[in-house]
Amino acid sequence: MARDALVFDMDGVLVDVTESYRETIVQTVLHFTGRKITRDLIQFYKNRGGWNDDWLLSQRLCADLGTYVDYQRLVEKFVELFKGNDGDGLISRERWIAQPGTLERLAERFDLGIFSGRRKWEADLTLNRFARDIRFDPAIYADDVKKLKPAPEGLLLIKELKPGQTLWYVGDVADDARCARAAGARFVGVASPACSWHKDLKQALLDEGAEAVIDDINQLEGRLLTRAARNAETEPRPSGSGA
Ligand SMILES: [Mg+2]
Repeated sequence: MARDALVFDMDGVLVDVTESYRETIVQTVLHFTGRKITRDLIQFYKNRGGWNDDWLLSQRLCADLGTYVDYQRLVEKFVELFKGNDGDGLISRERWIAQPGTLERLAERFDLGIFSGRRKWEADLTLNRFARDIRFDPAIYADDVKKLKPAPEGLLLIKELKPGQTLWYVGDVADDARCARAAGARFVGVASPACSWHKDLKQALLDEGAEAVIDDINQLEGRLLTRAARNAETEPRPSGSGA
């Protein structure tokens, strides 16, 4: 039987970005408006859906505070804060979530992939730093699709590359769940207990069709492997069907 494909979102799933992307949003808004927003406010927008793009979200947060910022100017500042001089900016504060061995063991059972709203250069900085030995194939980024999540384009691309294989998507916001549903992929939600909206987020992910909601991807092995094994016993899939 074809192996299932396990596709990860990056931010909040493979990588803890509270001190990197989220802090970059805070500092970008601070730079243009002189006001310091809370992380909770960012999470509020993320939970609501439609704000997968941190540049657009930063622009919106500035607008909420009464300051219109030209998009190009904002992007330049954001990238400067985030990237610094070749990776020594706020990006260097991000944390790889998988414990040693977790992804290696998952790779024994699943084809691993990535579908992220990051640009390829942003993803590569992180993967080269933390996951040189892990094979994510395919890895689909913002550069590869016309429409960002919740549009299912990226997952549909992966589906085409994995005919007959069941696709799982692991994401941390409602847009990820919507994206999975639109692509006919199964979905596992991640809701970090550190997030102050933890309970609401967990419920939102379940409401959007998550088959399970875990605290972080280190819990995937237990939950997903048990479930996958049970499915394999009870519902043999017709070969050639990607559904
Ligand atoms: Mg995410």
